[in-house]
Amino acid sequence: MIPSTFCDNCGARLSPPKKLFCSRRCQRKAETAKLRAEFIEAYGGKCQCPGGCDVDEPDFLSLDHIFNDGAQHRKQIRRGNIYRELKGLGWPKDRYRLLCYCCNQGRARRGGRCPHEDGATNRRESETEMDADLALVADLQAALPAASL
Ligand SMILES: [Zn+2]
Ligand SMILES: [Zn+2]
Ligand SMILES: [Zn+2]
Repeated sequence: MIPSTFCDNCGARLSPPKKLFCSRRCQRKAETAKLRAEFIEAYGGKCQCPGGCDVDEPDFLSLDHIFNDGAQHRKQIRRGNIYRELKGLGWPKDRYRLLCYCCNQGRARRGGRCPHEDGATNRRESETEMDADLALVADLQAALPAASL
C-alpha cells in the first residue's frame, strides 16, 4: 500500500506518512463505514417495507430484525460489529432486512405492521407530527447503538 499524506477518514495530515489513517480510531471508523455501505447494498439498497417505501438514503436506513429479536441479538454480539458478523454469515436475509427509520418506528408502534401496509404515505399531516417523529427517531437511535453506527 502506498503511504498517503492525509488520513483517509478525517483528512488530517499524516506525519510521518503512515499507511492510510492517522489513528486506529479513524481506521475503525472507515472500516465500519465501508462495511455499512456493503451491508446496505447487500440488503437491496433501499427500504424493504412490504407496504412499499422508496427511501434509499443510506443515513435513513437501518437493520431490521424481522422477528423483533434485536435486543437479544445485540446482547449476544455485545460490542462486536454487527455488519462484520452479518458479512461473515453471507448477509442472511431470513432474519434481517433493511428498513428506514420511519418504517422501523411505524412497525414498533403498530406491533410489527408498518403503517404503509395499511395504505399510509410518507406525507406529513402537520409540523407538530413531524417534530414528534423526529424525537422518536432520536429515541430510537439512542436505543439502538449497534444499528446506528
Ligand atoms: Zn484520521
Ligand atoms: Zn421505509
Ligand atoms: Zn413502511
